[in-house]
Amino acid sequence: MVDLQAQRQRLGARLDAAVARVMDHGGFIMGPEVAEVEKKLAAHCGAKHVISCSSGTTALIMALMAHDVGRGDAVFVPSFTFTATAEAIVLAGATPIFVDVLPDTFNMDPASLAKAINVAQQTGLTPACVLAVDLFGQPADYDALDAIAKEHGLWILDDAAQSYGAMYKGRALGTCAAITATSFYPSKPLGCYGDGGAVFTDSEAIARKLIQVRVHGQGKDRNENVRVGLTARFDSMQAAILLEKLSIFDDENVARDRIAARYTAGLKDVVTTPGVAPGCTSVWAQYTIRSARRDRIAAHLQAQKISTAVFYPKPIHVQPPYRGYPVVTGGLPVTEKLAQDVLSLPMHPYLAPETQDIVIAAVRAALA
Ligand SMILES: *Cc1c(COP(=O)(O)O)cnc(C)c1O
Repeated sequence: MVDLQAQRQRLGARLDAAVARVMDHGGFIMGPEVAEVEKKLAAHCGAKHVISCSSGTTALIMALMAHDVGRGDAVFVPSFTFTATAEAIVLAGATPIFVDVLPDTFNMDPASLAKAINVAQQTGLTPACVLAVDLFGQPADYDALDAIAKEHGLWILDDAAQSYGAMYKGRALGTCAAITATSFYPSKPLGCYGDGGAVFTDSEAIARKLIQVRVHGQGKDRNENVRVGLTARFDSMQAAILLEKLSIFDDENVARDRIAARYTAGLKDVVTTPGVAPGCTSVWAQYTIRSARRDRIAAHLQAQKISTAVFYPKPIHVQPPYRGYPVVTGGLPVTEKLAQDVLSLPMHPYLAPETQDIVIAAVRAALA
């Protein structure tokens, strides 16, 4: 699905030198690379504050903790996402309320969010936060979500784990919500060589709390604890690797866009190809098609040793640990339909046209 070796070859000796520098200076925890990558990420997206951390999941938990979201609070979240999005809410002690998504962008449906807020009020929960996900690389509709959030005094947390680097109406993700969380898991569009993540905010007060949460709720020094926190630092070695990868990231996203357009041209008459909303760009964490004959396509490609994946065959609200939480009135029909018919194809910036042609031909042959 993702070829990390092609990128490794492109960066070559620069990566080896970056790792060697960290081993030589020995500042493995919060070394100079950590502050440097935070500064570069802030400049890259335009956020005032970037707090790196140990994973995308941790980034979400830190954001909820820094905003004091907990027991009795409702957090509105799509069910059509990676488990970590909802998991962070439960770990923070709050209650997820599952919201449906739009069939074309796979992102949170603002009309469903408005209905879900009523559900929270009826169940005696305090509506606290909208946790929007930018699924498969594309931003959610922040203007529409913001209008509803504002009306109810809610703040928006953006799970940009799959989509850092994408733009919403001229604004970079990292600046489109009160707090944005992302992941540097190796297969994400901007990945390191292990676990990592970051939190973005323009609020100085929230940034200060995030820094406290990252290291055991530490205050001005290690002898002062001002809140309950975590061990959630990004390590220097991963920061050094990420700095190198960040230097080619924008160029890679141009390639991703070209590759997505090529898939769309080759497949749009036989399957539903993914749409990008007006004013948005995608970093194509996944290239996800829809077809009633999804399983047939997957089997045909597997027989030709072409990888495919279904994200996500089982929505979160039907998984045992999450079954007991509220769902928006009327249920999640779009989410349940998508679980039946989505299929993600190989997608990375180094996918050669000849390889892509084989994938396109295989999908067409499966449906012929
Ligand atoms: C990957 C992912 C996460 C979690 O990131 P980790 O770094 O693996 O903890 C959260 N949300 C979404 C949508 C993801 O795709």
